[in-house]
Amino acid sequence: MSRKVAVIGGGPAAVSTFLHLTRVRDIASVCFIAPNDIGCAPAFGSGGPMLLCNTSVDVTSLRPDGTSELLSYLAARGWPVHREDFVPRYLVTQYARESYLRHRAAAERDGVKVGHVRGRARSVSGHPGDYRIGLEDGTAVDATDVVFALGGAVPRLPASLRATATAPRLLTSPYPVRRLRAVPADAKVLVLGTKLSAIDAALTLCRAGRRTVMASPSGRLPAVRTRLCRDTAAGLGREWERQLADGADGAEAAAMARPLIRLIRTLSGGEPLRPRLSDHTDAHERLRHETQLAEAGQVPWQDTIAEVIDGLNHALPDQPEPVRRQVLATHRAAMSRYISSIPLDNARRLLSHLDAGLLTVADGCPERIDPHPDGWTVTWPDGRTEHIDWVVCATGFQVPALSVAPDGRLHIGEPAAPGARAAQVTPGLRVHRGPDHAQERMWAVGSAAGTRVPVVNYLRAAAQHARDVGRILDAEATAS
Ligand SMILES: Cc1cc2nc3c(=O)[nH]c(=O)nc-3n(C[C@H](O)[C@H](O)[C@H](O)COP(=O)(O)OP(=O)(O)OC[C@H]3O[C@@H](n4cnc5c(N)ncnc54)[C@H](O)[C@@H]3O)c2cc1C
Repeated sequence: MSRKVAVIGGGPAAVSTFLHLTRVRDIASVCFIAPNDIGCAPAFGSGGPMLLCNTSVDVTSLRPDGTSELLSYLAARGWPVHREDFVPRYLVTQYARESYLRHRAAAERDGVKVGHVRGRARSVSGHPGDYRIGLEDGTAVDATDVVFALGGAVPRLPASLRATATAPRLLTSPYPVRRLRAVPADAKVLVLGTKLSAIDAALTLCRAGRRTVMASPSGRLPAVRTRLCRDTAAGLGREWERQLADGADGAEAAAMARPLIRLIRTLSGGEPLRPRLSDHTDAHERLRHETQLAEAGQVPWQDTIAEVIDGLNHALPDQPEPVRRQVLATHRAAMSRYISSIPLDNARRLLSHLDAGLLTVADGCPERIDPHPDGWTVTWPDGRTEHIDWVVCATGFQVPALSVAPDGRLHIGEPAAPGARAAQVTPGLRVHRGPDHAQERMWAVGSAAGTRVPVVNYLRAAAQHARDVGRILDAEATAS
C-alpha cells in the first residue's frame, strides 16, 4: 500500500469519494482537510423538518448506482419512506456522517490510516505523486493524490451590496437558517433570490410571521414536481452525443430539445406538452397553476429530469468549450426552472404565504438598496421607493476557483495572482495545471468539476464523479 490521498472538503461529495476510495487496493492513508465535521457541510446540515431536499430519496445517495443507499439507511431506522419522497435535508447529513464513521472504522481495520485536518486548504504545490497542500494556518499536508470536493462555499453577494456588506441589518447568506431568528417578528424583509436558498429563507421567515419580499432579475420561482427519480432510460445522453458530433453549431444546440420533447410526449400517452406547462407570467399565479398541475399528476416532464441531467453530464464534457457554452446558453432558462424545481409540499407552503399576503415576489430586482439608520431604502425599477427592515442575500454560492500561478502553484479560491491562469478539469475529472506539468494526480468531484460538467449542484453528479475517480485509481493500482 503506497498512496496517500488528500480529500479537500468535508461535505457529502467528500464522503462519497471516501466510500469509493475504500475499495481501491493500494491506498495507505486518506486525509480529509475541511473546517467542519466530515459529512456535516452547510447545504444539507442546517434547518429542521421544513427544509426539504428538492431531489427524491432515489437520487440522493452517496452511491450513484443501484438502490438508493439513503433509502436503505432510512428504512433500516424505521422511517416510512418511499424512493419518491423528498426528505428533510438534515437526514442526508446524518446519513453522510454515519456512513463516514462506519467506513472509517472498516478502513482502519484494514490498515488504512484515516485522518482529518481541521482547516482550509489554500494551495497545492509539488509534482504528481508528491504534492504539498498548504493550509491557511500555515501548516501543510503531503499527499500522492489530491481530490477536490469543495462544494459551493462562499455566498455570492450582489454587486449592489458589496460596499455595505457589513451593515447590521444584512444577512449575506440565509445559512445556517437559525441566523434568520435575529430578524424581529414584525420586520419587513427583502430576500434577494428566487431559487432554492431564497425559498428556504422565505419559508423560514414567513413561518414566523415576517413580511417578506423575494426579488431576482428573472422574478421567476422554480417549477413544481412530485418526484425526481431515475425513471427513464431512453438514451438521451447518447442521442445528444450523436447530435453534437453531427454538427455542433447553434442549430444543433436548439435541436437537442427534440428527443426530450418526444420522450415527454411518450410519457404522457402522446398528449401535447403545452397544456401541462404554465404560461402565466406572474410568479404567484404561475406557482398556483403549477401546484394544481402537480396535484393532478400532470407533470410528465418530471420523470425525464434525472435522465436529462445524466445525459447532459454525459454528452457535454467532451465538447469544446464554445459548444458547451452555446448549449447551456440556449437551454439555461429551462434548465434552471425545471432541473431545480421544488417539491409540491414546499410549493403549497409558499402559495399559502403568497395567498395570505405575507409573501410577495417582485417582478424584478431593486435598482438600488441604500442603507438607512433603521434598515434600507429600496428603489424599484418603476421609481417607487420602499422601506425594508432587513435584507437577506440568497443569491447562490461561488465555487472556489482553482487557479495556477506562474510558479506552478495551484491556488484554491483566492483572488488569482498576477499572471495566473485557470486550472483545467479534463472530461476524465483530472485537474491540470497546464502543459508544462506531467499528468496530474489531482481530481475534481462535484462542484469543483463545474468548469467541465454542466450540472454539478446535485449530489448524484458528485457521487458519479467519486465513483469514477475511485475506478481510475483502482484500475491504476491493478495495473501497477
Ligand atoms: C439550499 C441548497 C439545497 C440543496 N438541495 C439539494 C438537494 O436536495 N439534492 C441535491 O442533490 N443537491 C442539493 N443541493 C446541492 C448540494 O449542495 C450538493 O448536492 C451537495 O452539498 C454537494 O456536496 P459537496 O460535498 O460537493 O458540497 P458541500 O456540501 O458544499 O461541501 C463542501 C465542503 O468543502 C469544504 N471546503 C470548501 N472549500 C474548502 C477549502 N478551501 N479547504 C477545505 N475545505 C473546503 C466545505 O467546508 C465543505 O465541507 C443543494 C444546495 C443548496 C445550496
